[in-house]
Amino acid sequence: MTATAYAAYRQAVLKRALTAIADAQAAGGTVTARGIGHLLGMSESSGLEIRARLVALGWLEVLSRAAGGRASVIRITSDGWTAIDRQPPEEGQRPAAMKERRCLRCRHPFLSEGPHNHICPSCQRGEDFQMGAVEYGRVA
Ligand SMILES: [Zn+2]
Repeated sequence: MTATAYAAYRQAVLKRALTAIADAQAAGGTVTARGIGHLLGMSESSGLEIRARLVALGWLEVLSRAAGGRASVIRITSDGWTAIDRQPPEEGQRPAAMKERRCLRCRHPFLSEGPHNHICPSCQRGEDFQMGAVEYGRVA
C-alpha cells in the first residue's frame, strides 16, 4: 500500500469510528475506548489509539478524563460533525421511545430506553438483578 493509500485508509477508519460515536451519542449513550475498538472489530488499545487520533484531529474533545471507575466523557466537535457530513443533535434530543420512568426496584426516576426497560442502570448492575431476583409484577 502506498503512503497516500494508507493515509486514505486511516482517514476512512477514523470517520467510521466517529460515525459510530455519533450514533451512540444520538441514542443517548456514550462510547468508551473499548467500545470504539469493538465497533470496528479491533482491540481496546486500537480503540484508545483511534480516540487519541480523533482528538488530535480536533474531531473529538474529552470533557472529563476517566477516573475512579468512571469512563471519560467525550464529545464530537463541530469540525467532527462536518467531517462525517452530519448535523449535531439538538441539546436534550432523545429517541421517541426514551422517557423518564420510575425504577421498579428502587423507585427512583431514571431515563428509560423504552417500554421494556423498567430497571435503572444502577439496579441493573446489582447482583440480585443478574440472578433474576427482581419482581416484575408492578409497572410504573
Ligand atoms: Zn433502581
